Amino acid sequence: MSTIGVVYNINHELHDYMLKGFPSPESPERLQRILHHLWNNKVLENNNCTLLLPVAASIEDILRVHTMDYFSFVKFRSSSGGGWLGNDTYLCEGSLDVLLQAVGSVLEAGKAVVTGQCDHAFALIRPPGHHAYADKHSGFCVFNNSAILARYLQTIYSCPKIAIINIDAHASDGTQNIFSADTSVLCISVHQDPSNFYPFKGFIREMGCMPAIGYTLNMEMPQEAGNSEYFIFFEEIGLKVLEKFSPDIVILECGFDSYYKEKLTRLNLTVNGYYNIVSSICRRWHTIVVLEGGYHEDVGLLADVVLQALADKRYTIDDVDQVNLLAARQSSCRLLFENKLNKLKNLICFYWDI
Ligand SMILES: [Zn+2]
Repeated sequence: MSTIGVVYNINHELHDYMLKGFPSPESPERLQRILHHLWNNKVLENNNCTLLLPVAASIEDILRVHTMDYFSFVKFRSSSGGGWLGNDTYLCEGSLDVLLQAVGSVLEAGKAVVTGQCDHAFALIRPPGHHAYADKHSGFCVFNNSAILARYLQTIYSCPKIAIINIDAHASDGTQNIFSADTSVLCISVHQDPSNFYPFKGFIREMGCMPAIGYTLNMEMPQEAGNSEYFIFFEEIGLKVLEKFSPDIVILECGFDSYYKEKLTRLNLTVNGYYNIVSSICRRWHTIVVLEGGYHEDVGLLADVVLQALADKRYTIDDVDQVNLLAARQSSCRLLFENKLNKLKNLICFYWDI
């Protein structure tokens, strides 16, 4: 059984829309729900997990990815009371401390894996980060947690090649923008078709810039896609490209909003789907899972399932009736999916011999 490091930013409740009286789905309840599930079901004990202590990231850590002007803006807005920044994103008086501890938690997770303290790690943090650009916030995200981790591992621990895989329902546009011209970081994002869906980026045709064309891969999942479509994507493209790239470490941007119960999205992953995706990755590479979105009542169950996959110890059973129901709903999207898969294959064959 693998050993797992788990870390969460203990101060996350200070980043709370209720402090300002504004509604946002990105609320403290998300992480509270996960933590309650993990504690109540003794999930950490059952999966050989070690709880890591969160440490605040330094400004130096943040500036490996973000501009000084942007950091100063976040610091100023947070210290002067916060408020809505636009693009669904908010700050509160205590948000800067929360953001620094969220990034620091992710870095501790990375450190634990690369130093051999554990095989894999799961950073349960909020707010999420994958929509944050070097110089702008977006979609609840202020600092790009996984991008900062990638640069930290490259700079401090001499890990030359990092792969970042996004399975949140929303495209990982911020992360891809940061690494768009960088051949040392492979970015793969599998998400709901962004044609009429936030962030309206992450199309198959977006493949990075010179000299790193082909190091950005986007898979547009049609509405209702679920376990079998994700399985086919990873078997026929995702895992093959990863094997060719041969990363030193994998960072998994793990959003739970690709789940069939998520009301903000139209994808149909189930417990089985999440288990199999995480398992197929961590069986081959040391993996650091970073929490992104997910706003429904089963986020705790899915965090549990991710830990089971990392530990290679399955005990949660999928709801078979539900899976059968979903299979019927998914049949209408299969043709669309196959067209998109072939389109992506035809483009990446110029860059990857798979
Ligand atoms: Zn999302």
